[in-house]
Amino acid sequence: MATSKHPKPDKHTAFCYSFKPRELKYFLFGKKICPNCGGALKKCKGYVTLNDEMPHSRDDCSRIDTSSVKYYRYSYSCAGCGSVFTLEELAEGK
Ligand SMILES: [Zn+2]
Repeated sequence: MATSKHPKPDKHTAFCYSFKPRELKYFLFGKKICPNCGGALKKCKGYVTLNDEMPHSRDDCSRIDTSSVKYYRYSYSCAGCGSVFTLEELAEGK
C-alpha cells in the first residue's frame, strides 16, 4: 500500500508514560500547591525524546521499535513565585 502521508518532522516510533506509585497518587489526588509560596500550581505537559531507551520497561517493550521514544513527563509551575517543579519532586515531598 502506498503511503502518501506527510512526513512528520518530529517522528517518534513509540511513546510511554512513566509514573511511580507516589507520582501517580500525587498526580491524581495531590493538592497542587507551591511548596515555596503556597500558590496554585499549573500543570504543564512536556516530553523528552529518548533514543533506544525505554525507561522502566525492558521486557514489555522489547518487541517494538524504540529507536525514538516520546517520553511524557509532567511538571508544575507556580504563577506566584515562578518556580517550576517536576511531578517527581512534588510527589517525593519536602
Ligand atoms: Zn510559588
